[in-house]
Amino acid sequence: MILFKQAEVYGPDRLGFRDVLTAGGKIIKISDKPIDTGDLEVLVIEGNGKILIPGLIDAHVHLCGGGGEGGFKTRTPEMRMTEMITAGVTSVVGCLGTDGIARSMENLLAKVYGLREEGVSAWCYSGSYQVPVRTLTDELVKDVMMIEPIIGVGEIAINDHRSSSPTAAELARIASDARVAGILSGKAGVVNCHLGDGPFDLELIETVIRDFVIPISQFYPTHMNRNARLFEKAIEFALKGGMVDLTTSTRPVFIQEGEVPAAEALARLLSKGVSVDRITFTSDGHGSLPEFDSEGVFKGLSVGKLDSLMESVIEAVKKYNVPFELAIRTVTASPAQYLKLNGKGFVKEGGDADLVLLDAETYAIDTVVSNGRLCLYQGQLQVEETFKMET
Ligand code: ZN
Repeated sequence: MILFKQAEVYGPDRLGFRDVLTAGGKIIKISDKPIDTGDLEVLVIEGNGKILIPGLIDAHVHLCGGGGEGGFKTRTPEMRMTEMITAGVTSVVGCLGTDGIARSMENLLAKVYGLREEGVSAWCYSGSYQVPVRTLTDELVKDVMMIEPIIGVGEIAINDHRSSSPTAAELARIASDARVAGILSGKAGVVNCHLGDGPFDLELIETVIRDFVIPISQFYPTHMNRNARLFEKAIEFALKGGMVDLTTSTRPVFIQEGEVPAAEALARLLSKGVSVDRITFTSDGHGSLPEFDSEGVFKGLSVGKLDSLMESVIEAVKKYNVPFELAIRTVTASPAQYLKLNGKGFVKEGGDADLVLLDAETYAIDTVVSNGRLCLYQGQLQVEETFKMET
């Protein structure tokens, strides 16, 4: 059992100063008065000067690596469980990336099961960048309906030179399969679409919505902030009821080339009247990011980092004056509700004990609890990788 004493709780709405008690992996009591736990063995964590929020959800991570676009040696490594914890992330949704050949659904699903064994929460999408999509069972609808951790389809690449340029009919068929499987299994059944830098922006998705009987909410387009023109289309899409996923991992050179920082994009969407329920941040973690020196000379590759999520939340609050409770919704309640991740995304009684304690001034991550287990305390990891990779 863990008892947080009088932290300022944002669940993600501001609840005020509360005691929060966890047991058996759940939040069992939230009270404005001190909770008396008698002589039970409880770890007490002082919340003085701290903010308690739900564990973060990162709904677009290349769990078993992505990239590999500069030859085999550039295939990016797998994500490790401790990268989640130090970023305050307790739930991830994994996807394949550009390479759906050397990386498989079997590989992705095995990684999801492995992360669950390591104590964090994980799901994945079925399908691949390319169409016809890679699947586990040879049928998309069967994957989403019958395989518990598979909650939708993605990432399907459109408007990108690396995509297989699906037709509207092909994308509609994928969306129908995802939708039916979702309805039959009580899952989200969404289609996570990678938007590239091509000239067609959201046209393909707009065509499917116009010409087929598929609701706009079925599509979960990501990288919507990757250039200024696409972002303008993203605002219109959101005002029509569409979801907008903003990618947080970036490089200064991408911003110089016109990428809209996720924090700025959030502020602009909110100012246009878009509900925060339709806006999410994801890190694109472990996708490859090229690095350049100050002269613009290619230096090598790194991977998208999960801690860019919290960095973007802080930037939204401090630089763009987005209220804290709205900024954290993009990484808690909004993805939890849209993706139907029950028990996640809120600090509430009966919910999963996924909690992050932040410094109230700096928002530095102090403590992380995942499924009731203390994983980070006073900035120090309390859990170990199954394999420790000494360097
Ligand atoms: Zn992508």
